[in-house]
Amino acid sequence: MMDAVRARIRDVPDFPKKGIVFKDITPVLSDPHTFREVIDAFVGRWKGERVDKVIGIESRGFIFGAPIAYALGAGFTIVRKPGKLPWETVREVYALEYGEGALELHIDAIGPGDRVLVVDDVLATGGTAAAAGRLVARQGAELLGYAFLAELSFLNGARQLGHAKVHSLLTF
Ligand code: AMP
Repeated sequence: MMDAVRARIRDVPDFPKKGIVFKDITPVLSDPHTFREVIDAFVGRWKGERVDKVIGIESRGFIFGAPIAYALGAGFTIVRKPGKLPWETVREVYALEYGEGALELHIDAIGPGDRVLVVDDVLATGGTAAAAGRLVARQGAELLGYAFLAELSFLNGARQLGHAKVHSLLTF
């Protein structure tokens, strides 16, 4: 039944640069049936667990994370690229193909006692999600797991994510 969702993920070759095949999830969102189907599938996977906070990773993780948090009865918070969050932050850097990236989280967004689910659209090499997981750990919260719409399994990103649960609705 995820076939209709898979069919609406569009491969865009050489975006944002040569050699990358970008998974464009916007057609999944624009169709009311597939949008509902993916949110319901995410919620179905995690509703048996206690989730206190959902973290969306900038920027497509925000789109999926907010309705998942709403449906699970959890709070929603965000990790963003440096300089975007207005309050005091903690930061984790991670390796990119050239240079490094970084993610920030508000210092008071999560804390000890929170069970946290991290959400993004695509798991590729895992560097981004791993950095989000380190932010959760640094704040003394419990990293319950990671939820992705699609996992590019040939890049072995799940290996970067330690012992947290990793669940992807689709694999490529
Ligand atoms: P990574 O850190 O390599 O796992 O990259 C994950 C982040 O980059 C996620 O926020 C994805 O949205 C984005 N990303 C990486 N590779 C792709 C791809 N081929 N198609 C779409 N998004 C991607």
